[in-house]
Amino acid sequence: MQLVVIPGDGIGPETMEVAVKALQAASSLAGAPLELVHDLAGHASLEKFGTTIREDLVEKISQSDGLILGPMTTHDLNSQDRKQANPSAFFRKHFDLFANVRPARTFEGVPVRSQPFDLVVVRENTEGFYADRNMKSGNSEILVTDDVVISMRRITRHCCERIARAAFELAMTRRRKVTIVHKSNVLKVGDGMFMDICHEVAREYPDVVVDDVIVDAMMALAVREPQRFDVLVTTNMFGDILSDLTAELSGSLGMAASINAGSTFAMSQAAHGSAPDIAGKNIANPLSQIWSSSMLLAWLAQKHQKPEYADLARRLELAMVQTVRQGRVTRDMGGSLGTLEVGDAVLENLNA
Ligand code: ATP
Ligand code: MG
Repeated sequence: MQLVVIPGDGIGPETMEVAVKALQAASSLAGAPLELVHDLAGHASLEKFGTTIREDLVEKISQSDGLILGPMTTHDLNSQDRKQANPSAFFRKHFDLFANVRPARTFEGVPVRSQPFDLVVVRENTEGFYADRNMKSGNSEILVTDDVVISMRRITRHCCERIARAAFELAMTRRRKVTIVHKSNVLKVGDGMFMDICHEVAREYPDVVVDDVIVDAMMALAVREPQRFDVLVTTNMFGDILSDLTAELSGSLGMAASINAGSTFAMSQAAHGSAPDIAGKNIANPLSQIWSSSMLLAWLAQKHQKPEYADLARRLELAMVQTVRQGRVTRDMGGSLGTLEVGDAVLENLNA
């Protein structure tokens, strides 16, 4: 399996170094060969090549099996550089990575306010209120007068169907429960269609229990009893907001993992940003990066029917769980270890 690895900005190079070591160790233990091709995008690429994304990099990624993308800083690009694409948004669009899969679970050893839980938010990644990311022309927000803006949302049958199917397929590998999160009582046409299509797709999965919850009630339920959820499927903006809530409920943003999956290609990406405030200090939590990489390998294993890569992914996840249980964590999780030391603990647990 060939993967392109882009360390990213801020804490990216530190957390990626640790994740790469863990990946290589798990790869040899599982007998699942990995060829990691290192490259640059974003700020590091801008400095070296004068552009955030090179043509030949896109080509190289297209030829590979998957992409491990580090966190990308966007906010300090100067006005001249702002024309440069944000790699994260660019890759999502270019490779049509329609499913943003964001797990949130409790870990033994990490104090939380709720019962233990284990859920996954499956967020539609290509349309909704952020539709202009995927439209050839125009913008989904219109300034009607200086004082009036109309924001439009695009919902299509095609995108509803494929995100619903991604959620049900995932549920089949888990506790077989899907909750549709929507606002069809107010957004009757768009969310009505989203919900109808999810229920249609549900009929293809008679073994999966389905229910639906209105998005505002969902926020309260997620806080009160997150343990009752397994897979949550929702439109773009609701998923964006809900997944930050569930990540926070699970203990630390430094654990927030995700993949962006298309039909034949996927990209792993920690759900947090580049955390410039703590960059270069060896204090960033590398577990989100390790977990995101493990999710990518699990996704590839299923796509290509290669169980040895599922084994690789499982080993990484178990080593991570064990490391957290031992309290060998960074300070965002109440520990005192550095990024590299957490990496050493993961390696030790992989080899145990
Ligand atoms: P960006 O513009 O790249 O999104 P940001 O300033 O918004 O950067 P985030 O990365 O979104 O920063 O992080 C928000 C907060 O969470 C920061 O205070 C950061 O230090 C903390 N944080 C994020 N990721 C981690 C991590 N892996 N380990 C420890 N703390 C983290
Ligand atoms: Mg941020």
